[in-house]
Amino acid sequence: MVGHVTALTGKAIMTTSSKQSDVTEKQARQVAEQARETDWRKPSFGKELFLGRFQLDLVHPHPTGDPMSIERGEELLKRLQAYCETEIDPYEIERESMIPDRVIQGLRELGAFGMKIDRQYGGLGLTQVYYNKACALAGSVHPTLATLLSAHQSIGVPQPVKMFGTEEQKEKWLPRCTREISAFLLTEADVGSDPARMRAVATPDGDDYVLNGVKLWTTNGVVADLLVVMAQVPKGEGHRGGITAFVVEAASPGIVVENRNSFMGLRGIENGVTRFTNVRIPGENRIGKEGQGLKIALSTLNVGRLSVPAVCTGTAKWCLKIARQWSRERVQWGKPVGEHDAIAGKVAFIAATAYALEAMTDLSGEMADEDRNDIRIEAALAKLYASEMAWLVADELVQIRGGRGFETAESQAARGERGVPAEQLLRDMRINRVFEGSTEIMHLLIAREAVDAHLSVAGDVIDPEVELKRKAQAAKNAGVFYAKWLPKLVAGKGDVPTSFTEFGPLATHLRFVERSSRKLARGTFYGMSRWQGKLEYRQRFLGRIVDIGAELFAMSAVCVRSRRDPEGGSAVELADAFCKQARVRVENLFSGLWSNSDDSDRLLTRRVLQDRYIWLEDGVLDPSIEGPWIAQDTGGEPKRNVHRPIP
Ligand SMILES: Cc1cc2nc3c(=O)[nH]c(=O)nc-3n(C[C@H](O)[C@H](O)[C@H](O)COP(=O)(O)OP(=O)(O)OC[C@H]3O[C@@H](n4cnc5c(N)ncnc54)[C@H](O)[C@@H]3O)c2cc1C
Repeated sequence: MVGHVTALTGKAIMTTSSKQSDVTEKQARQVAEQARETDWRKPSFGKELFLGRFQLDLVHPHPTGDPMSIERGEELLKRLQAYCETEIDPYEIERESMIPDRVIQGLRELGAFGMKIDRQYGGLGLTQVYYNKACALAGSVHPTLATLLSAHQSIGVPQPVKMFGTEEQKEKWLPRCTREISAFLLTEADVGSDPARMRAVATPDGDDYVLNGVKLWTTNGVVADLLVVMAQVPKGEGHRGGITAFVVEAASPGIVVENRNSFMGLRGIENGVTRFTNVRIPGENRIGKEGQGLKIALSTLNVGRLSVPAVCTGTAKWCLKIARQWSRERVQWGKPVGEHDAIAGKVAFIAATAYALEAMTDLSGEMADEDRNDIRIEAALAKLYASEMAWLVADELVQIRGGRGFETAESQAARGERGVPAEQLLRDMRINRVFEGSTEIMHLLIAREAVDAHLSVAGDVIDPEVELKRKAQAAKNAGVFYAKWLPKLVAGKGDVPTSFTEFGPLATHLRFVERSSRKLARGTFYGMSRWQGKLEYRQRFLGRIVDIGAELFAMSAVCVRSRRDPEGGSAVELADAFCKQARVRVENLFSGLWSNSDDSDRLLTRRVLQDRYIWLEDGVLDPSIEGPWIAQDTGGEPKRNVHRPIP
């Protein structure tokens, strides 16, 4: 199966890249830029942070939901927990690589497919906070369950219809989405992070569109009833064209699921390759306007991607439980392993990080519900940070468990020990750094917003294509902006020892965040001045800028949260420990901005790609295999249809 996937990807690239080589880097950037939301109608804590303005009042006091929605959310969590504990065997999912139909039916009866759908359409109308908690709870039983729920609700049909659909569309699809499964289909073999290369085409035909193309890695796509499909509409009379979003009935004639993909983790996800051959889509199934597809996808993800940090939070909390139990129970060299300094450091890292991930996820969720701030940067930071940190947490848990960390839970149980699926978790967590915006793409996306103020005032100065007269005007405007802005970065609340004192022992950390926010803004400005228009190619510099921002957001989140946590003193201890750890990382990142091996690494990579060191690859074999995949362009008969209808 893995061979097919490898072969499919390889073949697709071979058959399509020659046709698509005309999509230049510049065009790819233009497509991404056009899809960017440029409106900032509400305040943004994240945006201000990158500009050196630490506006704690935007997140403090910690927002809280209203009592009714809390009651509804708690009620669902109680029912979901009871169901998961009694009716779901996670090892069955792992063994069979499939969520049993009865479990899907059970989740449906609980209302879990309509958690975020408004009550007027038959959903539970839960807040983002409780939706996140439900994903974390289901994910702690088996991460595949959270993927099923979030692929349907975070990116599948309900969210874009809720945000961009007409009232008729909402009435038509949202009630169905409380019972049925949906999927989101953007990726193609040649379209991963770069939608400019999209080949799926929806050709206008009267009031309808006719869809042709092949979509890859469609989570839920194998079992879905409804699909959101992104496809290019050709420009023509009465059609502005461009990438457009459609709701498509999965049972439409001309749709074939050609392969059910399998992966290193998330066993049980129904992820496929879906081919569309002359599929007729009624015009009324288009969401938004032609050409708005990517904007819709990105806006959907603004909040939708919060389910990733939610699942990562659940993971980190479970890792803490196992790390605590095992570090105390396992005795080596005369004492519990948790008392050996090396392991103690790992337990401390897991505990502090679990607290931070929960703080970040809950704060972002509450902010999404409160709708007072624009949270696109915070949600992106939460996704980026949580997926990276949960991976490290899971890896440290494997290390703490020693050989048992590498052994499957069923094997441990077969030997008569408690089976702990640490290795499974590591496999399951890995994909979070890739999907719903890979770490590299999240770095670019957030960095774009971090430098936006600079580009707005100085963009024309550094743009080689802008004529001299406009450049001169832009330089003048930039001069005015920087003359006001730069002096504000010199001193601030973080330099005043009496500021933030209501936070007690955490005040020192908030002062650090304030100082670091200004330092970060200065660093970004120096980067802009030094590299000008070429800054966008300094991805590792920008990545460090963004990572510093993520740490500062996490520090702010734990400080604010510790003030409302009922645990009182113990929450402050966790917040303090996390901030101490984060400060070390921030200092390293700051020093990495100007002291690094980026230039020599870039040269080395160029040489690697020119085969200069190919001799180093001698002495090993290549286990890759070519599968009997039918080339995508041949129009050959599909290999098989693995569509598995759910009763
Ligand atoms: C289990 C699974 C489930 C998925 N579910 C869905 C789904 O439901 N719907 C859907 O549409 N897609 C889905 N995907 C696809 C997923 O979103 C893509 O894998 C992801 O967008 C990355 O695309 P790619 O794999 O083609 O990597 P590529 O875009 O080929 O990137 C390869 C590497 O290069 C990096 N890279 C790419 N461009 C840049 C750049 N400009 N600068 C710096 N680095 C860059 C990437 O970060 C990555 O590390 C799924 C994938 C998997 C494996």
